[in-house]
Amino acid sequence: MDVYALIGNPVEHSLSPPMHEAAYDALDIDARYVTFEPPEDGGAAAIESAATLGVAGLNVTIPFKQQVIEAVDPAPLAARIGAVNTVDFSTSPPTGYNTDATGVVRSFAHHGVSLSGTAVVVGAGGAGRATAFALADEGLTVHVVNRTESKARDLATAVADTGGDAEGHGLDALPDLLPGADLLVNATSVGMEEDASPVPADALHADLAVLDAVYSPIETRLLQDAAAVGATTIDGAWMLLFQGVEAFERWTGEDAPVDEMNDALRKRL
Ligand code: NAP
Repeated sequence: MDVYALIGNPVEHSLSPPMHEAAYDALDIDARYVTFEPPEDGGAAAIESAATLGVAGLNVTIPFKQQVIEAVDPAPLAARIGAVNTVDFSTSPPTGYNTDATGVVRSFAHHGVSLSGTAVVVGAGGAGRATAFALADEGLTVHVVNRTESKARDLATAVADTGGDAEGHGLDALPDLLPGADLLVNATSVGMEEDASPVPADALHADLAVLDAVYSPIETRLLQDAAAVGATTIDGAWMLLFQGVEAFERWTGEDAPVDEMNDALRKRL
């Protein structure tokens, strides 16, 4: 039996175990997915321990995504983002991927959204970094907008320094940027367990495809405002699903049973 795992602190409410175990059941794979909660400075040590124990694949969540970089060989996109959420132990040293980034791209693609034109990414933390690099790599022009404007500018510079087309702004730029945007991603925590949106409703329009990384609640204020003007809406559970789908496919080499994983996830949201 193969053992896959997630490290995070805290991890007790993670939805990854049921999502991955649904995939093992669907494809008759003899495997289990368990969670571990190392101490907050224990990310790199946990990678070494998992390798020693023969763990087949590891997901990594807050607060370890940046720490574990030193214990893996990061794939180019993960190295540029500066964070790893998926570790493959079939190589030595283990390879680190950032499937949050691919999760964003696959969420848009799954909904038939063309990955071209201009994207506005609100947020410059972990989710914002993954999103900005991922969409710039797809060839989009990326505007990073953040409450702390200097972080948006720093992220845009990092994206531009590695060949992307990106600019950073403060939140007050949203009304000017959104009329020309094709894609909008909320990568802030605004809207999580609250009826609030980081984007003024009257700046939204029908030609936007809007992804909210927040998945609790599923129908955030931003997605409700976006649906009201006829925009395409994609909830945060899709991003969560596709980061898991990408991890499963990297570990097993098989196409993931996306519908079964999605059902298992949504049943618990
Ligand atoms: P993070 O690194 O802590 O970044 C938080 C971001 O939110 C920063 O840009 C911060 O701006 C902004 N922010 C916080 N409070 C704000 C406020 N009141 N007004 C405006 N901006 C505010 O967090 P993260 O890891 O990127 O996660 C961000 C969200 O994405 C969380 O809700 C998380 O659950 C979600 N997420 C979802 C997935 C998924 O698979 N669906 C994956 C990863 C993350 P400042 O820089 O100004 O502080």
